[in-house]
Amino acid sequence: MQDFYIVDTTLRDGEQAPGVAFFKKEKVKIAKMLDEAGVDIIEAGIPIMGKEEMECIEQIIAMQGKAKILTWNRMHKRDVDASLRCGAENIHIAVPASDIQIWQKLKKDRSWVMKEMQKVVSYAAEKGCSVSVGAEDASRTEEDCLIELYKKAFQAGARRFRYADTLGVLNPTSSYQKIKRIQENIDGELDFHGHNDFGMATANTLSAFQAGAKYISCSVNGLGERAGNTALEEIVMVLKILFECEHPFEGKKMMTLSQLVEQASGRIIGDGKPIVGKMVFSHESGIHVDGLLKSRNCYEAFSPEEIGRKTEVILGKHSGSIAVIHCLQEMGIEIAKKQSDEIVKMIHQIYTHNKKPDIDFLLKQWTQVNKKVASRA
Ligand SMILES: [Zn+2]
Repeated sequence: MQDFYIVDTTLRDGEQAPGVAFFKKEKVKIAKMLDEAGVDIIEAGIPIMGKEEMECIEQIIAMQGKAKILTWNRMHKRDVDASLRCGAENIHIAVPASDIQIWQKLKKDRSWVMKEMQKVVSYAAEKGCSVSVGAEDASRTEEDCLIELYKKAFQAGARRFRYADTLGVLNPTSSYQKIKRIQENIDGELDFHGHNDFGMATANTLSAFQAGAKYISCSVNGLGERAGNTALEEIVMVLKILFECEHPFEGKKMMTLSQLVEQASGRIIGDGKPIVGKMVFSHESGIHVDGLLKSRNCYEAFSPEEIGRKTEVILGKHSGSIAVIHCLQEMGIEIAKKQSDEIVKMIHQIYTHNKKPDIDFLLKQWTQVNKKVASRA
C-alpha cells in the first residue's frame, strides 16, 4: 500500500537545466540509484534526441529494475518510433495546451492539436504502450479546454495525465482548486508537474496531491529548467513526515542520490537547502544547542538519521558554554564550567575578527596548553 507515486524527472527535465549535461554512465548510475531508492517511475530522457540518448535509455531499460522507465515525446509519431526502438513500454506524450503555446509556438489551432494528439496517443497505445499525456502550460490553459484534452486523450488510450505548471505560476490555493476540478471531471490518474519559479513548487505539489494528484513529478535537488522542478527530497519528506503517507522510498539513500546529482550536474547545493543542504542539521546558537542537547525534538523536525545524516553542534559567534563542553567531550576532553566560559570568550573574539577559523584545532591547542600549565603547578 502506498499513498503516492514518485515520477522522477532528473534525467529529463533535470538535464534540461541550463548548462547541465550528464555523461551516459552518469545517467545510468543515477537511474540505478533512483530505482534502488524506490522511485516508481523514472523519466529517462528523450529518445528522438539521437543515437547516444537512445543507447543510454536502452541501457536503463535493460537494467530491469523495479521502477517503470518512461520516455518523453512530442506529439509526433517519429518521437514514439524512437521510443519504441529503445524498447520503451511507458510513453509520455507532451501536448502544448495553452493558447500561447498553441498559437505562438506551434502557429496552429486547438482543433489541430486535438487531432494530432489523438493520432499519436492511439498509435502508441496500439503498439501496446502504457501512455501518459502531459498538458504543457496547463496552469495557463482554460480549464474546460484541459478537461476536453484529457478526455480525448483517454478515448485515444492514455491512462495517466500530467498537469504541468510549466512556468511555476500557480500558488497552493489555485493548484488545489484547479486539480480538484480536473480530478472530478476525468478518468485516469493525475500527475502534477510543478516548477519553482516563485519558490512554490513543493507547496503547489502538496496542494495538488491533497486535491487528488497521486503521481508526484519531481527531480533530485529540484534540478530542472530555470529555477527547477519540485525537489524530490522536499516533497517526499513532506508527505512521509508531515502527512504520514506511506511510500517505500528509502530515506537513507537520499544523500548519496543528492550528492551524485550535485556532482554530475555541476550545480552546487547551498548549505541551507532543505533536507540535503550541508548545514541543515547543524546547530550553533547557545539557546538552541542547550535545548537540543536536552531533547533533540526541541529543534529537529525529524531525526536526521532517517536520511542517513546526523545532528552536528558547531562552535561559532553564537555559541555558549554548553556547546563548548559538548564539543570537547566529543574529543574526549573534560573541562570545568569556568574554563568553558573562557573558551566561549575566546571563540567570540576569534569569530568576530576571522569569521571561519578552524575551531577544533584551536580548542585542542588551548586545552593542551592548559593541561601543561596545570601539570607544572
Ligand atoms: Zn517541466
